Amino acid sequence: MTFKELGLDKNIIKSITELGFETPSPIQEKSIPVLLEADRDYVGLAQTGTGKTAAFGLPMIQGIDTDYRAIQALILCPTRELCLQITNELTSYSKYVEGVKVVAVYGGASITDQIRQIKKGVNIIVGTPGRTIDLMDRKVLNFDTVSTVVLDEADEMLNMGFKEDINQILEGTPPFKRTWLFSATMPKEVERIASNYMEDPFKVVVGTKNSSAANIDHKYCLVNGRDQYYALRRFIDYSPGMFGIVFCRTRREAKEFADKLMTDGYNADALHGDLSQAQRDAVMNKFRNRALQVLIATDVAARGIDVDDVTHVFHIDMPDEIESYTHRSGRTARAGKSGESIALVSPSKASRVRLVEKQIGKQLELIKVPSGNEICGQQLIRLIQNVHDIEVNEKGIAPYVAHIHESLAEFSKEEVIERFVSVEFNRFLKAYEKAGDLNIDPKKSRTRGGDREDSRGERGSSRGVANGNRIFINVGKMDGFENKGQILGFICNQSGIDGNSVGKIDLFDSFSFLGVEDGIGEKIISKMNGKNIESRDIRVEFSKDKPKGGGRRSEGRGEPRREGRRDRKEFSNSGGPRNRSRNRR
Ligand code: ADP
Ligand code: MG
Repeated sequence: MTFKELGLDKNIIKSITELGFETPSPIQEKSIPVLLEADRDYVGLAQTGTGKTAAFGLPMIQGIDTDYRAIQALILCPTRELCLQITNELTSYSKYVEGVKVVAVYGGASITDQIRQIKKGVNIIVGTPGRTIDLMDRKVLNFDTVSTVVLDEADEMLNMGFKEDINQILEGTPPFKRTWLFSATMPKEVERIASNYMEDPFKVVVGTKNSSAANIDHKYCLVNGRDQYYALRRFIDYSPGMFGIVFCRTRREAKEFADKLMTDGYNADALHGDLSQAQRDAVMNKFRNRALQVLIATDVAARGIDVDDVTHVFHIDMPDEIESYTHRSGRTARAGKSGESIALVSPSKASRVRLVEKQIGKQLELIKVPSGNEICGQQLIRLIQNVHDIEVNEKGIAPYVAHIHESLAEFSKEEVIERFVSVEFNRFLKAYEKAGDLNIDPKKSRTRGGDREDSRGERGSSRGVANGNRIFINVGKMDGFENKGQILGFICNQSGIDGNSVGKIDLFDSFSFLGVEDGIGEKIISKMNGKNIESRDIRVEFSKDKPKGGGRRSEGRGEPRREGRRDRKEFSNSGGPRNRSRNRR
C-alpha cells in the first residue's frame, strides 16, 4: 500500500515524503481511508511509536476547509511535550496545503501569546485539557464550529486525572461532531469514555489490545533494592552504545539515581516533577539531541516523550500501575526499530512480573545482571573493534614510527598486541575486579544471597556504635557549599545543634555525610527533613553503612560515599568507561 492508494492528496504526500515517510504504518493503513471517508466515530488502539499522529493528522488536514476561517478540529492530549510534538507534526504535514493553521495551547507558557495566536485565526487546536478549559472559560476558545475531536493518548489523560476536564470540554462541542480516540491500552475508563461519547465507533486494533511492540525484548532480573543502582550501572557498562531511559517510581528515587550516576561520571540527567518547566525543557532538549546518554524519569514526567532511537528502557522496579509498564517500554523500539526493556525487580515486586506478562501478552525473560567478566568482555570486543576500524593518520605518526619500532623491537607481535590492549583495558579489569554477583536466586528470592550477609548488616541489625551515628544529607557542593565549614554552619543554623557535636564531615557534589554525637542525628533529622533548599526537599537520614573494616567488601554493598570515592579513583582518572560516556558538552 502507498499513501496515494490510501486516498491522500498530492500536497500532503509531498510533505510526508520530505519527512521520510515511504510506506504507511499498519495503523495508518487501516485508519486513513476510514477517517477520510466515513463520517463516524473511531477508536484506534496501537502501542506508542506506531505513527498514530499521522494516522489522524493526515486525514484531518485533508478534511480542513481552508476557506472557512474557524476552528474545525480539536486535539486533546495529556502533556505539553506531546502537544508541541503533535503541533509540529501537523504543521509539517500541511507545509504544502495553504491556509491550514495549527495552534498549541498548554499550561506553563504565556496565555496571552496563545490568545494572540488564536485571535489571528486557526483551524486546528492542539491542547492539554487544563489550558483548553481555561481558554474556554475566558471565552477565547469556542468549539461550536468543531467537526472533529481527537482524544490522543486517552489512557494517559485519564491516568493523569483529566477525566472531568475531558467531559467538560466535550460538553462544549457540537453533538454532530466526529470523535476519534487513540490509546495504547484500553482500560475500563477508556471504554467508558468511548461508550459515553461515541456512537458505534469504527474500531482499529493494531497488535493485540494492551500489547506492546513486537520488536521489544522484554527482560527482567531479580536484585535487591539496594543493589538496583549498581545493577543499572552494570547494564549501562555492558552496552557501550546504549541510549536509554530509566524509569523510577518516585521523584526522589529519580533524583537519587541521576545524582549518583552523574557523580560517578555518567552522562545522565533527571526528569521529574520537582523541576521547573524550563529545567524540564532543557533536559528534554539535551536528550533529544543525544547530548545526554541516560535519562532518569518518573512515569508522570516521561509521559509523551517521543524520542526515536532509544535502545534501552530500564525499570527501577516494576511500576505500581501495571499499565505503566506498557507506556514505559513503548519508549523504545519506535518506528520499526528494536529495543530492550529491562526491569530490575526487587523480591517484593517479583509477583508483578506475572501481571505484566498477562497485560502485554508476552513472557518476560529472566536474565542475570552482567558479571564483571561479561562487562569486561563486552568492552574488550568494542575496543578491538575500534582498533580494527580506526583510520591511521600515517603522516601524523610518521616522525615517531622509527622510535616506536626501536622501543618495541624486543617484543613479538603477540606481545605488542597484549600490551596495547592492556593499556586500554586494565582499568576495566580493575574496576570490576572485585565485582560480586548481584543476582538473587529466584528460588530463594525472599532470602539474601550468601556472602551478602557477612559483608553488610541488615538495617537495624547490630552494628558498631562508632558508625551508628553517621548521617546522610542530600545537600552538597552543588548547593553552593564550598567547604565543610560552610555546610556545618548551614546545618547548625537550620537545626539549632552545636557545631561541636559534629565530627567528621564528608562533603560531596550532591550529598554529604556527618558523624554526630548520640542524640544529635535525631535532632537534625527532625528539624531539617522536609525543609527546602532552592525549592528542593532536604532529606536527612542515618547512614546505613557498617563499621569500617567490618567484613569483606564487594560491589554494591556500601554507602554512596565509599562507592563514590572508589569509582572516582578507578574510573575517572583512568579515562575508563565513565570518561568515555561522560559528556558535558
Ligand atoms: P505514536 O503516536 O503512535 O506514538 P508517532 O505518531 O509519534 O507515534 O510516530 C512515531 C515516529 O514515527 C515519529 O517520529 C513519526 O514521524 C514517525 N513516523 C510515523 N509514520 C511514519 C511512516 N509511515 N514512515 C516513517 N516514519 C513514520
Ligand atoms: Mg502519539
